[in-house]
Order: sequence, then C-alpha cells, then structure tokens
Amino acid sequence: MNHSHDVAVLGAGIAGSCLAKSLADQGWDTVLIDRKQFPRHKVCGEFLSPESQNMLNDLGLGGIVEALQPSIINRTQLIFNFGTCLEIPLPGMALGVSRYSLDSALHLAAQKAGVNVQTSTTVTSVYPCDSGYTIEAKQGGERKGYQVRAVIAAWGANGRSGLLGQSPDSKATNTYMGVKSHYTGIEMEQVVELYFFDGGYLGISPIEGGRVNAAALLKQETFKHTEKSILGLIEAASRKNPKLHQRMANALPVLGTQSAVAPVNLERKPLTWDRIPYVGDASMMIPPLCGDGMSMALRSALICAPLASRYLGGEISLDRWQQEYSQSIKREFKRPLQWGRFLQWSLGVPILPRALLVAAHVTPRMAYGLVKATRLKEMRS
Ligand SMILES: Cc1cc2nc3c(=O)[nH]c(=O)nc-3n(C[C@H](O)[C@H](O)[C@H](O)COP(=O)(O)OP(=O)(O)OC[C@H]3O[C@@H](n4cnc5c(N)ncnc54)[C@H](O)[C@@H]3O)c2cc1C
Repeated sequence: MNHSHDVAVLGAGIAGSCLAKSLADQGWDTVLIDRKQFPRHKVCGEFLSPESQNMLNDLGLGGIVEALQPSIINRTQLIFNFGTCLEIPLPGMALGVSRYSLDSALHLAAQKAGVNVQTSTTVTSVYPCDSGYTIEAKQGGERKGYQVRAVIAAWGANGRSGLLGQSPDSKATNTYMGVKSHYTGIEMEQVVELYFFDGGYLGISPIEGGRVNAAALLKQETFKHTEKSILGLIEAASRKNPKLHQRMANALPVLGTQSAVAPVNLERKPLTWDRIPYVGDASMMIPPLCGDGMSMALRSALICAPLASRYLGGEISLDRWQQEYSQSIKREFKRPLQWGRFLQWSLGVPILPRALLVAAHVTPRMAYGLVKATRLKEMRS
C-alpha cells in the first residue's frame, strides 16, 4: 500500500532532519526516511562550527543542542608530522557534540513538529508519476511505497547512485576513507587538534560527557595494507605523527562508538538538482578539514525549505524552484568550496604546508583569513 504525504525528505542526517522539521513547521505533511536505525555513531569530527549554531537557532533548534551539554571549542591547532604547530583562533564559539546524540535529538524535534520519521527504511527508487513522485523503499523484509507531491534528496555523500535510475557515479581515483572512535583518557582544552601526516589527517576534539572524538580522513591508497579494523587504522595513522602518537598514548577507546565510511570522494562535482533537489552532502562536500560540512548541510536546508513550501503552496513552479535554489547554492557555496578544496590540496603537496606555515607565522592574519575564506557568510534574509 502507498502512503500519501505532501513531501518526502530522503535521508535523516543533519540536512534532512532540519529540512523536514522546517517543512512540518510550515504545515506540510512531511515524511522523513532513513536507512539507518538511530541513534547511531557516524564518521564526523563532531565539531559544530559557530555558523552551524546560528542556523540551528534560526530553525528553533538551538536549545536542543544546548541540552546535550556539548563541549566548548574556541581555537584550532594544526600539528604537522615535521613537528611544527600553528594555533588559529576560531571566528566564534564552536561546540563539540556527538552525532549519536545530535542526530537523534533532531529526529525528536522533527517528530514533535509533526514529521513522520521512518528509520531502518532504505529508499530503493524514486520516479515521477502524474501526481508527483512514487518512492519505493524496504523496511526489514517489507516493501513500502510513498506517494508524494515533492521529494528532496538529503541522502548524504554516498546515497545517490542509481536511486533515480541514473548510472552509478564514475569511479574516482583519489579517494579517502573516514574512521572515527570516541575515547576517554585524553585531557583536552577548548581546542580542536588537527594532526597531519603522509596520507591524511586526524582530528581530536572534546565532546559531551568528558569524552574525546577522534576522526580521521585517510587516503585509501596509503592505508591499503594496514590492518583493516577501525581502531587499527587510527593506531596506524597516529604512528605517522610523533606528537599524535604521544597524545594517544593513554587513550582508551569507548567500545561501540567506532564507525567507518568509504569511499570519501572530495573531487565530486557539486549537484544541486537532478530531477529532484539535493541538499547537504548529497549536493556537495566541503573537505572535512574545514569542519563546515554540517553548517553547509544546514544552510542548504534553510535555502531549500521556503522554496519547497512555495512550490507546495502553488506559488511557484518546479522550474522556478530549481532555478532559484541552484542560483542561491552556487552564490553562497562557491567560494568556501573553492578555498576548502585549495586548503585540502595544499596540505597534500610536500613543500606547501611548510611554506604556508612560515607565511602564517610571519602574518598571523593570513592564517585566520584562510580559515574565514572557507566559512559561509551570514545568511541574507
Ligand atoms: C572524516 C570526516 C570528518 C568530518 N568532520 C566534520 C566536522 O567536524 N564538522 C562538520 O561540520 N562536518 C564534518 N564532516 C562532514 C559532515 O559529517 C557532513 O557534511 C554532514 O554529515 C552532512 O550532513 P547530511 O545530512 O547532508 O548527510 P548525512 O549526515 O550523511 O546524512 C545522510 C543520511 O542519508 C541516509 N541515506 C543514505 N542513503 C539512503 C537511502 N537509500 N535510503 C534512506 N536513507 C539513506 C544515511 O543513512 C544518512 O543518515 C566530516 C566528514 C568526514 C568524512
């Protein structure tokens, strides 16, 4: 049997949950679908940038994050395997909070706003029909169908292949994998520490409950012969940077908090619309190094929600929605994405990190300026 709704949001990460809540707040019958069971651990640095918090406040979700008692973070340290360290203040107060707690809290808020949240439900296809779209999904062994007037893809970086009948993404050559685990036994100040080494980097930052999150982005090619367990990969990575190795000496992994994702393709072309709108990582991925993925996911949801609402209310056509959404995304995300990719690239070129460091020590404002360049500007009302 097909269930009817005004709108379906496919993927209940940061972008999807916030978008669904916003649509329900505007009175639309909204279904939010995710293949995972929640709460779940997810590969992420769990660093909620100052920009993200403003956006969560705009969505009426600021109090929800505060209630999770996140850690406060006010600066970042870059620590290179050749021993040099650079400290950069953040352009505002950031928070450290696990995706385990955050994503579930956002689901609860969406549910309270009236969203029908369907988890453990994998979307298998989406196709247009006379009245809008038909979505097919699997929940356990059961097939489910949804009939909706509008549908929005929030299925993250690895969700898009094949769902709309298109051929899977072409194989990228320079791919990474992401791994993460929570730890106890590491004393941390209000700082996110980023350790660089040949083949990637690993960030550690404080989260709620006195724990520390360690998340790494590792080149698949460099780590292909390493032991494949998540903790084994983190250990192998830490051996590549003496200061990190020292830092992790007394760290105790919290069992059950490990997760991994592959491939992570940082060269993927941005895509704002492919028959349906794309938000968050489904649309584009800023290198995790910038710690701005969640704020870009939120911003795309904030841009998409009012347009979706106008479309559902009959004020604008689908074409107009596509045009306005794509233009806004391009305008707001082009610069941070370009700078983010430049930073990611430059740290992989042998001489450049040293050159950048020398320049940053001589002109500290340059380092701050580079960080600022990767950030989103305040949203225009
Ligand atoms: C190593 C690493 C570190 C990072 N660190 C940070 C950081 O510190 N700060 C930061 O802001 N960002 C960070 N990011 C980026 C951040 O995690 C993402 O930008 C953010 O999660 C994007 O949110 P989203 O809602 O678009 O996608 P996601 O959070 O990925 O959500 C997508 C959801 O869609 C679901 N889904 C996929 N396919 C289907 C399907 N077929 N059917 C149903 N559901 C489906 C998935 O289960 C998932 O829950 C990091 C990323 C990596 C890889």
